[in-house]
Order: sequence, then C-alpha cells, then structure tokens
Amino acid sequence: MLKRNFEKKNFWIFDLDNTIYDPKSKIFDQIDLRMKQFISSRLNISKEEAFKIQKKFYNEYGTTLSGLMKHYQIQPNEFLKFVHDVDLSKLKKCSDLFKEINQLPGRKIIYTNGDQDYAKKVLNSLGVESLFEYILDITKSKYIPKPSVEPLITYLNKNNINLKTCVYFEDLEKNLENAHKYGITTVHIEDKINKKKTTQPFIDFRFKSILEALHTINKTYN
Ligand SMILES: [Mg+2]
Repeated sequence: MLKRNFEKKNFWIFDLDNTIYDPKSKIFDQIDLRMKQFISSRLNISKEEAFKIQKKFYNEYGTTLSGLMKHYQIQPNEFLKFVHDVDLSKLKKCSDLFKEINQLPGRKIIYTNGDQDYAKKVLNSLGVESLFEYILDITKSKYIPKPSVEPLITYLNKNNINLKTCVYFEDLEKNLENAHKYGITTVHIEDKINKKKTTQPFIDFRFKSILEALHTINKTYN
C-alpha cells in the first residue's frame, strides 16, 4: 500500500522548524523567547504582556509577525532578523539525513514561516543545504503565513508541478489540512514534546521522526 502511494511522487516539500531537525534541540524555544523580548522592548511592555500578545497574534493570524505588522506597523525584516538570531550549535551535520533526502526521487524545497537566511543556516548546520532547490520563506510568501497554503500552491502552479506528485512533511497538523485539500500527500512528523495524537482525516501518513519517514518511503522504491 505504501509503495503504491509513493511510486509517482517526485516533488518533496519540507517544513523547517521541528520537522527537519529534532524538536529536542529546542531551537524553536529560543526563537519563541526572542519574540517575547522583541515585543516587550519595542512596545515597551512587560515580558508577561508581551507573551500574551505574541500568542494572541499567533493564534489569530498564523504568525506573531502578521499581527505585529497589522497592529504596530513593525518592519518584518527587523523582526525576522532579531528573532532568528539564535544558537544553532545543537544542530549537527547528519549524514543519514543527507543520504535519505538525497535518495528521494525528484525535487525538494523548504516551506517555512521563518526567513531564508535563518533557513539556510539551519540547513547548513545539518549539512543538507545543497539538496534543496528553493526555500519558500515568509518574505517570498508575501507574509501570508501557514496554515494558509496559498503561497505554496501559487509557487507549485507557476512551476507547472502536478500537485498529485507532491509530498509535504510537517510537524504541525493544522498546516497540513489545506495542502491535503489540494491533493498533496501529507506526512505528519510527530510532536515528541507535546505528544499530541489525533486521527485527523487530512493526515495521510504519520511517523515519529523525519529520518523514520524518509527511510520508510525510500525503502518503497527498492
Ligand atoms: Mg514546524
């Protein structure tokens, strides 16, 4: 069954944070903290108030940045640069990850609510940057964040990519729902920290880690 599902796939879409690297590295926790610091200092409010705004905007608009742009005219570049200035030393080059991504038949892109410079640094730390032909980041997405898939679909259509040949890896279930509506095969990489387990109809496959997912998929081609 798995074999039949993947035999005609040739376009692979990867989320970045907590998907392509292990959430245990806690990289995103640092970003979360820096968002709070940014809001607190720019709006001149306490860290507690800043955190409330951060989460409110995240829930309402998909990203904290969207809310800040709408309500406080924050320059996106300034925000993105500040929040992504984090320590990536926990991310190590991973030859297994390189091997498995490389082995997937076809083209690969990154699709992230973060920005390109940061994505490149993460991919570089993992030693897999050369495997991706494009990084569809939040700037190229015209600041329309996931869970909307509008920027992704626009990109795929512009490049004449058949949506039925696409596979999308993500750690946040809600980001897969819209992609699934377009016929993209969805692969959920389990959130090991929150251990949330649901049976959403828009999740086609679920794996414990990106390595397990890639290894299983690659085996179907042999
Ligand atoms: Mg993610």
